[in-house]
Amino acid sequence: MNSHPLPPLKFSTLHQTLIRAFKLVWGMAPGWTGINLVLVVVLGILPIAALYLTKLIVDTVTVGLTVPEPESVLPQVIIYIIVAAVIALSITIARSLSELTSEAQSTIVTDGVSDILHAQSIAVDLEYYEDTSYYDTLHRAQQEAPYRPTRIVNSLVQMGQNVISLLGVAVLILSFSWVIGFVLFAAAIPAAMVRYYFARARYRFEQDHTENERQAWYYHWVLTDSSHAKEVRLFNLGTIFRDRFRDLRDDLRKGRLNLARYRTLSDSISQVIVVIALFSTFALIAYSTLKGEITVGDLVMYFLAFQLGIGFIQAILSSLAGLYEDNLFLTNFYQFLDLRPQIRSPDNPVPVPDPIHKKIEFREIWFSYKGGVKDVLAGVNLTLNPGEVIALVGENGSGKTTLIKLLCRLYDPNAGSITVNGIDLRSFDPVAWRKEISVVFQDYVHYHLSAGENIWVGDVEQAPEPSRIIAAAHRSGADPIINRLPEGYQTNLGHWFAGGQELSEGEWQKIALARAFFRNSSIIVLDEPTSSLDPLAEAELFRNFRNLLEGRSAVLISHRFSTVQMADRIYVIDGGRMIEQGSHQELLRLNGKYARLFRTQAEHYQRNQ
Ligand code: ADP
Repeated sequence: MNSHPLPPLKFSTLHQTLIRAFKLVWGMAPGWTGINLVLVVVLGILPIAALYLTKLIVDTVTVGLTVPEPESVLPQVIIYIIVAAVIALSITIARSLSELTSEAQSTIVTDGVSDILHAQSIAVDLEYYEDTSYYDTLHRAQQEAPYRPTRIVNSLVQMGQNVISLLGVAVLILSFSWVIGFVLFAAAIPAAMVRYYFARARYRFEQDHTENERQAWYYHWVLTDSSHAKEVRLFNLGTIFRDRFRDLRDDLRKGRLNLARYRTLSDSISQVIVVIALFSTFALIAYSTLKGEITVGDLVMYFLAFQLGIGFIQAILSSLAGLYEDNLFLTNFYQFLDLRPQIRSPDNPVPVPDPIHKKIEFREIWFSYKGGVKDVLAGVNLTLNPGEVIALVGENGSGKTTLIKLLCRLYDPNAGSITVNGIDLRSFDPVAWRKEISVVFQDYVHYHLSAGENIWVGDVEQAPEPSRIIAAAHRSGADPIINRLPEGYQTNLGHWFAGGQELSEGEWQKIALARAFFRNSSIIVLDEPTSSLDPLAEAELFRNFRNLLEGRSAVLISHRFSTVQMADRIYVIDGGRMIEQGSHQELLRLNGKYARLFRTQAEHYQRNQ
C-alpha cells in the first residue's frame, strides 16, 4: 500500500481544474460541447424567468381580489399562465436535449480517453510493465476512464447551469436583504465541506487499495479465464482462490461502506444547519408581508427563491467537491500520460544500414532489470556476422532471452555498447531498427484472429497478400495445419470469436514461426522455437533452415543439441557471462561446460533407448 499526499482543493487553483476538465471535453467533442453550452445558459435562465412569472401571476390575482370586478384581470393572468407554460415546456425540451448532448459528449470523451490510454500503453517502455507502481497508475487510470469523463461532463454542465441560476436568484435575494443572502450562503458551506472531506477520504482509500483491488481482479481472472480452467480443476484451486477473492472484496466493501456511513451521518448533521437557516428566513419574509413591506407575490417568489437559491449553492459547492475528485482522477490520468519512454528515437536518427549486410557486435554489455539486485548480463561480448547462424546455450535464467531483448532494443544496457556495422543501436529510431528483426519469443502470442492474419501481423506494413502468407506458412510447416481448418486461412484461431478453432501448442508454434518468416527482416531470432514441435517437424525445419533464411543471419536459443549443432558459432552463457564460444566440434574438444551439457543429454537419450 502506498499513500500519496493529496493536493488540497485551493480556490486559487480551482480555475485550473475547471479549465483542464473543460479543455479535455472541448478538445474531443467541440460540436456537442458548443450545443451544451447554449443549453446550459438557457437552462440557467429559464427557472428564474419562471419564478418571476409566478410572482406576477400571484400579484395579479391578489390585485384582482381587491377590485370590484375580479374577472377583469383574467386576460392578464391567462397571458402570464401561457407564457409560464411555454417556459415550462422549453425547460423540459432543453433538459431532454441537454441529456442527449451530455450522453453524446460523454461517450465521445470516454472513447477518446480510452484511445489516449491505448496510445500511451504502447508508447511506454516495456520496463513499466514489470513495475508494480506502473500497474497501479495504469489500473487507476483504466478503472476510472470509462465513467469519470461522463462525470466530468455532467459536473461541468450542472455547475454552469447552477451558477447562472444562482446569479439570477442572488439578484432577487439581495434585493430583499443582503444579510439573508449571506446567511443562506454561509449555511450551505458545512454541507460542502463534508462532501469535500469525503471526496478526499474516498480518493485516498481507493489509492491505498489499488493493489488489493488488482489482486481481487487477478483471482477473478484466474477463476473465470479459460487458460487457467484446466489447472484450477486439477489442483482444486477453486475454493482457495474464491476465498481469497471474497476476503479481499469483503475488506474493500467494508472500508467503502464505513466511509459511506460516516458521510451520510455528517451530511445529515450539516443539513440541519441548512434547514434552520432556510426556515428562519421564511419566518422573516412572512413577517415582512404581514407588515405590508412586500406583496403576496413577493412572498411566494422569495419563498421559492430562497429554496432554489440554497439548492443552487449546495449543488455548486458539491459540484466543486465532485470536480475536486475528478481533478484527482485527471491528475492520475495525466501522470500516466506524462510517463516518457526512455527508449525513443534520437532527434536526428541515423538510417539503419543496408538491409542484409549487417555485422552486430555486443561489447562488454552489462545489464540488470529495474529493481533487480543482480547483474543479469555481466560483460558480455558477442558477434553476429552477416548471413551467419549463431546459437546461445545456457541453463535457465542464464540471460539468453535478456540478450535478445537488448538486441531488439526493448531495453538499453547499463554499460557497454551494441553496434550495427559500427553504429550504436541508440543512434537509430527503435521502430526502424525493430523492422530488421523477426523474433519468435518463448512466450509468443496466440492472436485470436484468423490464421492468415496471425501470419500477416508479423509485418503489418506489407499488404496481406495471400500468396506471401501461404509461402511463409509453407516455410514453417504451418500450411498443412491451416489447410485442414474448416475455412482454411480465413478460420479464426482460439475460441474468443465465432467459429474459432483451438490449435495444439506445437501447431501454434508453427504459426508463430510463419509470422517470423513473413517479416521482411535481415535477422531472425528464434528463442526455443521448437520446444513444442515433434522431433520430425523439428528435424524438417532445421534440415532446410539455411535455405529458409535466404541469406539472413539468425540467432537460435535452444536446449536441443541437435538444433544447436548446425550453428556457425555457439556461445555458452552462464550466470550472465559468456564462458565459451566456438563450433560444436571445437566446444566438444574444449571439454568444458558445453561438452558436459551435451554428454548429459546424449547419455539421457541413450539410457532411455
Ligand atoms: P534465459 O533466457 O537464459 O532463461 P532470461 O534472460 O529470461 O534467462 O533471465 C535471466 C535472469 O533475469 C533470470 O534470473 C530472471 O529471473 C531475470 N529476469 C528475466 N526477466 C526479468 C524481468 N522482466 N524483470 C526482472 N528480472 C527478470
